[in-house]
Amino acid sequence: MTPVVAIVGRPNVGKSTLFNRLARRSLAIVHNAPGVTRDRKYAAAHLAGREVVLVDTGGFDPQNADPLSQNIAQQVALAVEEADVVLCVLDGSAPPTPVDHETVELLRRSRRPVLYLANKLDQTRDAGMDLYSLGIPELHPVSALHGRGTGELAAQVSKLVSRFEPSQNDASHEDEPRVAVIGRPNAGKSSLVNRLIGVERSLVDERPGTTHDPVDSRVVWKEEPFVLVDTAGIRRRSRVDAGVEAASVLRALRAMGRAEVVVLLCDATQGISEQDTRLLGLCCERQRAALVALNKVDLLSNRARRLLAEQSQEQLGFARWVPIVEVSAKTGHGLSQLVAAVVAAAHEYRRRVPTSQLNQFFERALERHPPPTRGGRAPRIYYITQAETRPPVFVAMTSAPGSISQSYQRFVTNQIRKAFGFQAVPLVVHYRKRSRRSD
Ligand code: GDP
Ligand code: GDP
Repeated sequence: MTPVVAIVGRPNVGKSTLFNRLARRSLAIVHNAPGVTRDRKYAAAHLAGREVVLVDTGGFDPQNADPLSQNIAQQVALAVEEADVVLCVLDGSAPPTPVDHETVELLRRSRRPVLYLANKLDQTRDAGMDLYSLGIPELHPVSALHGRGTGELAAQVSKLVSRFEPSQNDASHEDEPRVAVIGRPNAGKSSLVNRLIGVERSLVDERPGTTHDPVDSRVVWKEEPFVLVDTAGIRRRSRVDAGVEAASVLRALRAMGRAEVVVLLCDATQGISEQDTRLLGLCCERQRAALVALNKVDLLSNRARRLLAEQSQEQLGFARWVPIVEVSAKTGHGLSQLVAAVVAAAHEYRRRVPTSQLNQFFERALERHPPPTRGGRAPRIYYITQAETRPPVFVAMTSAPGSISQSYQRFVTNQIRKAFGFQAVPLVVHYRKRSRRSD
């Protein structure tokens, strides 16, 4: 699973500043639980080239006994439960407070790997020496605000999480599509997974130190093999009740990290929720193939099903390429269609369009409809190549990348879909300047 890195610390030490700096432009998923002062935030981030899930837990104050802060302390407990590495942020410009002592104590007992940061060291690398009175082995000086020391921090974290990288011992099924089932609590994930697995054959992958049971399950459905990732996570409910919804986001982010195809399972009786659209947004951002499965359709009348179909089209309009299938994990309705769609999606995700076809496409679709003139100049596109698969990435070589309008970029993407399909797959086209030398 993608390793989880949680940021904890008392209010105002700079957690959210650090989160934003480390997550950069990644889309954060915000989870707002009732009665919590600040939202939990999640983002997929790259730290020194390694993918992690970053969690900002919000603030907490273990010394304050009111229910609100207990709630927040619970969030931290959840973060610690789910995290592989914890970043404990301290204010390096001020003496430690009783809350800092408590925080450090809580973390010490958690037995997670923890990096302690002395933040707000904008000018100096020396934390107030009194921070060491917390009994911390090592303090990492940073300035989240100015980005000082955060590169080194990223490298440290990356090194720490490297032991959570997937092991190589399940290489025998390397070529089989890797599929993550995600969704809100009660959408029916465990029902679906159990139904698909039937007689289970699990791939246990053992890595030291994980709090999770990262078990994948290999499924052969009507002769189509694929691997469901993190099925143990789906079956295991979080021990911290208040965090079930938050934990489902975390789990989704984790599982997505190793999946090519994501099945977003929605409870059809509830319609598409905001959380569902956020999760789908995340699939788009991380460029995973995606399918939406509307579950529990056995509970809907035909009329309700039609209505839901229309609504979902509308609400998921930002990702029109995502197929929507109706299923019932309970009756088995639609499961064969779902598996067929998953396998097709994986195929598209890995597909490479032959250059000759791409050239023909270029002549037919793009040369005849060149980009419109902008600022008196007409940008030219010279050719287009497929640079990558899994996910497919195209590169268009052009005279002026900055002058290709958004609407023309959409046109190009739509044309590629029209010509080649790429169902269920987010398409990326980069526009690069062709240098003179390569003319
Ligand atoms: P959080 O409550 O722990 O999430 O703290 P925030 O990230 O909201 O930061 C609290 C305040 O500290 C904000 O005004 C930040 O601008 C400021 N801050 C955060 N990091 C730094 C830093 O490295 N240097 C300085 N001088 N201020 C910082
Ligand atoms: P999870 O939290 O996403 O893993 O959801 P579960 O698989 O635990 O399902 C939540 C509840 O919905 C359980 O009571 C299931 O029996 C029920 N459920 C799941 N799928 C279906 C379905 O297709 N039809 C009906 N009627 N109930 C379902």
